[in-house]
Amino acid sequence: MSQYWSSLVHTLTPYVPGEQPKVNNLIKLNTNENPYPPSDYVLDAIKKATDDKLKLYPDPNADVLKKRIADYHNVDANQVFVGNGSDEVLAHAFQALLKQEKPLLFPDITYSFYPVYCGLYGIDYQTVPLNDEFEIQVADYSQECGAIIFPNPNAPTGRLLELDEIEVLLQSHTQQVVLIDEAYVDFGGQSAISLVNKYPNLLVTQTLSKSRSLAGLRVGFAVGHADLIEGLERVKNSFNSYPLDRLAIYGAVASFDDEQSFQESCKSVINTREELNAKLLELGFKVLPSAANFVFATHPQFKAVEIAAKLREKSIIVRYFNKPRIDQFLRITIGNDTENQALCVALEAIIKG
Ligand code: PMP
Repeated sequence: MSQYWSSLVHTLTPYVPGEQPKVNNLIKLNTNENPYPPSDYVLDAIKKATDDKLKLYPDPNADVLKKRIADYHNVDANQVFVGNGSDEVLAHAFQALLKQEKPLLFPDITYSFYPVYCGLYGIDYQTVPLNDEFEIQVADYSQECGAIIFPNPNAPTGRLLELDEIEVLLQSHTQQVVLIDEAYVDFGGQSAISLVNKYPNLLVTQTLSKSRSLAGLRVGFAVGHADLIEGLERVKNSFNSYPLDRLAIYGAVASFDDEQSFQESCKSVINTREELNAKLLELGFKVLPSAANFVFATHPQFKAVEIAAKLREKSIIVRYFNKPRIDQFLRITIGNDTENQALCVALEAIIKG
């Protein structure tokens, strides 16, 4: 059979997202969404945006949102870029900033989108092994490189690199862009956004998908030196795209206005994470310390793939990665109290028989 697509596209290895099941009544703990809904305040703002302006195009620059994020993080509006989820922001960053003559560095166990973008944009990369405890060690990033990217906390491990370590990295890489992907930072990390005015080579990305319960709205952003942001804008404007629709712009602004709901939902997720952690330890799992809204756990006697299959029979889905070094681990998103209790009961039945 003839192939109609080009040989370049044929060689791409696309990203495989976590399952979004088509059936209801599953306890869905596989793609790190927030178990709590957005607040009424945010929902009202989205509803209000369905006014007679919906017939008009949105502001292609989403200025009102950039200004709100800038105020929230104490930077100037020209230091903020917004996009359709942080995946789109990252895509633009790979194209605009991370494609250099020397290879891009990222951890060997990390967000699986990174090698996909490298394939798409023809970016040479090298992976840097995590240590035995699945930690990023900045001393391991001393080889020649064009740029560095990693999530903090890392995914799927949940392990956090402290800000002082990030500063060590920034001080030794003043000529390279260092991109910190903070998709999960609000669940126990400290944001490196506080460092962007000190290090012009630092770009930080965040998302409203996790800690702000807005995965369905698709909003992400980057904060950094205005020159880095300009690079992202140039790529975006080359597509004549409207990154955010009107509802997303106003829903996102409202989310930053509703600090209390945001803090409360983060606190609930963190509390449940600690409860789940304790239960997993009681059942004999080894659990990596997590600063995210998921845990990464392995059991010495049971195969991760089999635990995942048995949970699935009980209508609970968790994430399993069939990859070297982590194929004995499960990544479990933190659910609400009811979901967590059901998970704990199911795990106990599987482990204790
Ligand atoms: N970075 C990391 C580390 C992630 O796990 C995710 C979610 N899959 C993203 C970025 C992208 O999230 P979103 O596009 O929903 O903002």
